[in-house]
Amino acid sequence: MINKRQVTDNIIQYQFSYMRENIFYLKNQEILIDTGSPNAKSELKEIIKQINITKIIITHSHFDHIGNIDIFKNTPIIMSKTSKEIVTKNKDEYMLFNWIGSEVVEVSTDQISTKFKHKQLQIINTPGHLTGSIVIYDKNNKFLFTGDLIFGPTSIGRTDIPGSDKNEMKQSLQKLLELEIHAILPGHGEICYEKNIVSKALKIL
Ligand SMILES: [Zn+2]
Repeated sequence: MINKRQVTDNIIQYQFSYMRENIFYLKNQEILIDTGSPNAKSELKEIIKQINITKIIITHSHFDHIGNIDIFKNTPIIMSKTSKEIVTKNKDEYMLFNWIGSEVVEVSTDQISTKFKHKQLQIINTPGHLTGSIVIYDKNNKFLFTGDLIFGPTSIGRTDIPGSDKNEMKQSLQKLLELEIHAILPGHGEICYEKNIVSKALKIL
C-alpha cells in the first residue's frame, strides 16, 4: 500500500507500507525522487496517471528506491555516474539485494543522464550507504532529500552491506554540515524537522 501526504503546496510524499520507503513528487518541477520497491507497482501505476512527471531523480540504486523504474518508459532518469554503472554492469553485486530476495529491475539505460542543472535543486554526491549515492538539496525550502544516507539525528544508513563504507559516510555527512537544513526528507520513515540533524548524526557514527 502507498500512503500519500502533502508536505508543502509543492511537495507530495508517497510512503510505501512495505519498507516505509518514501518517494517524493515535486509538483512545480514535475520531478519524482526515487520510485520505491516493486511490490506496490500496480498501485504506483495508478498514482502516476494523475500527475505529470518529466524527470526522475534516483538517490541510489538499491531495489527499494529504483524498483519501479521500468514503468516510466519514456521519462528521463537522473542518477550519478556510479549508480548508472551499477544498474548496467554490477547488478548482482549491489542493486538486487540478493539477501532480501528482490526481483530484477530492468532499467532502460538510454534514458539515464548523469548531468543535472537546476536553479532550485542541487545534487550532492554522498557515498557511504552505497557507492554512487546522492542527496538533493532544495535551496528554496532548505530541504534535503537524503535517500538512505541519513534518516534523522540518531539514524543513518547502513554501512555494513556491499558498496557501503563507513569512512565515506562520515565524509558525506561532514559535507552536509555547510548547508542550512530545515528538514530532512529521507528515503524511509518520517520527515525530520529537528535542528542540527547532521551534526548530531555525526556523533553516533
Ligand atoms: Zn539503500
